[in-house]
Amino acid sequence: MDFTLPPEHEAVRTTVRDYTKQKVEPSIEEFESRATFPHALIETAAEMGLLGIIIPDKYGGAGLDTLALVLAVEEISKVSPALALIICANNSLAGAPIIAHGNDAQKEKYLTGLARGDIYGCYAMTEPNAGSDVASLRAKATLEGDTWVLSGTKTLITNGSIADVVIGIFRTSIHPHKGLSAFIIDTATEGFAVTRVENKMGLSASPTAEIYFDGCRIPRENLLGSIGDGFRIAMQTMNSGRVYIAAQALGIAEGALNLALGYAGTRKTFGKIIAEHQVIQHSLADMATEIELARSIIYRTCFLKDSGAPYVKLASMSKLFATEMACRTVDRALQIFGGVGYIRGNRIERLYRDVRALPIYEGTSEIQKNIIANAILNNKFS
Ligand SMILES: Cc1cc2nc3c(=O)[nH]c(=O)nc-3n(C[C@H](O)[C@H](O)[C@H](O)COP(=O)(O)OP(=O)(O)OC[C@H]3O[C@@H](n4cnc5c(N)ncnc54)[C@H](O)[C@@H]3O)c2cc1C
Repeated sequence: MDFTLPPEHEAVRTTVRDYTKQKVEPSIEEFESRATFPHALIETAAEMGLLGIIIPDKYGGAGLDTLALVLAVEEISKVSPALALIICANNSLAGAPIIAHGNDAQKEKYLTGLARGDIYGCYAMTEPNAGSDVASLRAKATLEGDTWVLSGTKTLITNGSIADVVIGIFRTSIHPHKGLSAFIIDTATEGFAVTRVENKMGLSASPTAEIYFDGCRIPRENLLGSIGDGFRIAMQTMNSGRVYIAAQALGIAEGALNLALGYAGTRKTFGKIIAEHQVIQHSLADMATEIELARSIIYRTCFLKDSGAPYVKLASMSKLFATEMACRTVDRALQIFGGVGYIRGNRIERLYRDVRALPIYEGTSEIQKNIIANAILNNKFS
């Protein structure tokens, strides 16, 4: 067993670490506090190839693997989970389903733009009345001649307000699972509208929007995969995307621990720095231990996925453990800051708000437990 990172991956980590330190750290708080999309940072990320890390080089991407994107997401999330989420959405929610299910023409048309950052992508599955329960989606797609007509509302869509292209899951028949199909939709199409940009608790630099399809007509060839493949495509996209959310959580936890270590080493109470109080030391030790555990399971999931082995159960375990661990870690770190940790403008306060979304999106903790229980009870998915 070899636990060292290959040189190519070490290089990704170092490059993204430098980008985060030199570009993200000095400017991100302004985007976060004004809740604006960090265009300048995304442009640099695009030049570095971060928007298409997993997109094949044939289409202008970096052509790297799951572990490479995980390392990039982990590094950026230490400082800006919102920026990491934007990059995740482009790679794994918009890019990955096209890589896995698109035909040559679709790959040529969309992957090149996504990889270069010429276009942004989003993934629209959730509806006001259906999130975890994907089989009850209602937004409809009807075939009229050579045109698909899309109608309905999709809600809580990351990048929904800035996307040029949407991967959307729509109902094409009444069968709960086989009645869903996936489509690639250009947002410039008539009948597409952004109806609301959400005012979120955290992740403020990452736009989340409600989008509406009002008889939006797209060409027949914009079906992704075959009719009835939508549920399968949705599940595959979620399964593979979860490891990146786990990496986002890992980065947040590492960022919080670093902040706590810094503060604990300078703040004095009762005549000594608080890092000398054993209770504080134990809290730091718990954080560091859980971070190592999360990293182990996440990197192992990458190894399985990149080597073509079954990975779904481990991806769910990674997401479940890492996101809940990150919530605990940020909470512990904020406690070490005492009162100043509760004040706006302190990064730990922002991480506290940012992290809360992670056990919810791309499948809640409860849904991860359902998947894991199903796997171990039925010996499925490995
Ligand atoms: C910041 C943010 C970004 C998002 N980005 C996207 C995006 O880009 N694209 C997209 O399509 N969606 C996105 N979402 C939506 C997200 O994926 C859903 O919120 C999530 O899947 C949960 O669905 P829901 O909110 O409808 O909750 P519900 O499904 O209504 O669940 C409510 C509660 O019931 C629990 N529950 C539900 N079913 C079960 C069950 N069978 N057993 C046990 N407990 C259960 C859930 O765990 C949860 O606690 C985003 C959400 C957020 C907050």
